[in-house]
Amino acid sequence: MGNIIASKCRICNFENTFKYGGNRFDYQTNCPVPAINIETEEFENVNYKIEINNPKYKFYSDKELKGDNEENNTFGNFNLELNSVNNYCPKCKNFAFDFRIKFFTD
Ligand SMILES: [Zn+2]
Repeated sequence: MGNIIASKCRICNFENTFKYGGNRFDYQTNCPVPAINIETEEFENVNYKIEINNPKYKFYSDKELKGDNEENNTFGNFNLELNSVNNYCPKCKNFAFDFRIKFFTD
């Protein structure tokens, strides 16, 4: 149900890994998603269930952080969807940040 996703920017090589979606035991209260904290401009992996209405965060499921997905796969989790390519890079601010699933969690 959840995923561990590895990211990498094709331009500046910024990379990290983050959790996406809860596991089968905690998914009703825990849904980690990648986000940008607009106050610090830093990437954060936050719990969507708690931060959903927090104006401090933009989520990678939001259109604003998505570029052209070029018909690649998307990663769905309930009503959320991530693009796999051309996402907003928190470091160089280009839309060149790619996501790929490293492994699935329960
Ligand atoms: Zn970058």
